[in-house]
Amino acid sequence: MADQAYVTLATNDDYAKGAMVLGRSLRNHNTTKQLVALIGPHIAEPCRATLSSIYDEVHVVDILDSRDTAHLALMKRPDLGVTFTKLHCWQLTRYTKCVFMDADTLVLSNIDELFEREELSAAPDPGWPDCFNSGVFVFKPSIETYHRLMTHCVENGSFDGGDQGVLNSFFNTWSTADISKHLPFIYNLSSIAMYTYLPAFQQYGHEAKVVHFLGKVKPWNYSYDTQTGKVKGHTLTPGSSELHPDFLVQWWNLYSSGVLPALRDSYGDKPFC
Ligand code: UDP
Ligand code: MN
Repeated sequence: MADQAYVTLATNDDYAKGAMVLGRSLRNHNTTKQLVALIGPHIAEPCRATLSSIYDEVHVVDILDSRDTAHLALMKRPDLGVTFTKLHCWQLTRYTKCVFMDADTLVLSNIDELFEREELSAAPDPGWPDCFNSGVFVFKPSIETYHRLMTHCVENGSFDGGDQGVLNSFFNTWSTADISKHLPFIYNLSSIAMYTYLPAFQQYGHEAKVVHFLGKVKPWNYSYDTQTGKVKGHTLTPGSSELHPDFLVQWWNLYSSGVLPALRDSYGDKPFC
């Protein structure tokens, strides 16, 4: 469908690698939706070229666009910079409905059924389940909503310093109003969940449709041995390895087979990022 899209964001080359893997995973599972990447102005040209080979649209979003009054107001709040960048997605009004996905997510099966949901649908956050996790959410682009969000940001800030705090206080009836806006956890399975509730992970983990590498250490921070197919410095949760596929290894397999060849082509003789 041409008026529906998956949207992600990468403000630097590292997150761009995540976006490449995410885009490839969506393509591998035969999505019929458009793929849109929002990127910061400093992404290296070869990374941009590779993103363009995977995504239908790549848009540079300028965080310091002084023509926009909301931007100007936000420049007094530099702490909200990256947050602000994610909220740009509401400006994609050529689409009637979108699913935002963090660049540190990986799709394991076709999830196009998410487009049957309404704004704002998201899965619970594992740390505080009355809040939704903003790594995967269904939304409806609208300039009006965008401006209301910007005003909300400027007036109230973000209780966690990021987009998730802003979005949860803006869409503040999510936890109580409409259960159809609660996405099952398998649409945003954070890697953290397997550490905090291993039996549930063992029971339901194989149903996961989206894995979210939430937290400080991202897949691209590890290194991978192409000979052995092993991720260096990575140890599996005890007890989980025999029963479940290792999502980190899956991320690296896709990166090395589906992304690296295209990145190498784009870089040519130039130093590699
Ligand atoms: N992001 C980005 N550049 C940054 C930090 C974040 O482009 O320097 C984007 C990226 O899409 C990322 C999302 O914002 O997935 C949310 O950040 P992150 O995934 O690091 O937060 P977490 O899910 O670990 O809370
Ligand atoms: Mn994330």
